[in-house]
Amino acid sequence: MSTTPLTITPETARHVLWMFGHPGGQQPGRFTQHLAAAIECADCKHAAILAEAFPDLAGAILLAKHHEDGIQQLKDMVAPRCTRCTDTDGPFTSDGLCEPCARPVPLGGVM
Ligand SMILES: [Zn+2]
Repeated sequence: MSTTPLTITPETARHVLWMFGHPGGQQPGRFTQHLAAAIECADCKHAAILAEAFPDLAGAILLAKHHEDGIQQLKDMVAPRCTRCTDTDGPFTSDGLCEPCARPVPLGGVM
């Protein structure tokens, strides 16, 4: 069973953050809520079966439950990032750039 965070979509990360009561979370639909509850309380055998069918949700839940910084990793997946420097400090332009990247210093330097 893979718990690679790379397979977790931002939407799934938001759902799992909501499930664990963290800011930045978003309430999923009823099916996902029940599915997530089933994964969360499943024993290893059943968790593995559910993870085969729903790898991103299972991966996100395992990350939240068993990794020291799992919640922070999920928050990082949800946070918007600058497409150039990957900073999370907004606001961002429509191109996904942070303010410093949107207004680069001219080649001549600051006057
Ligand atoms: Zn930037």
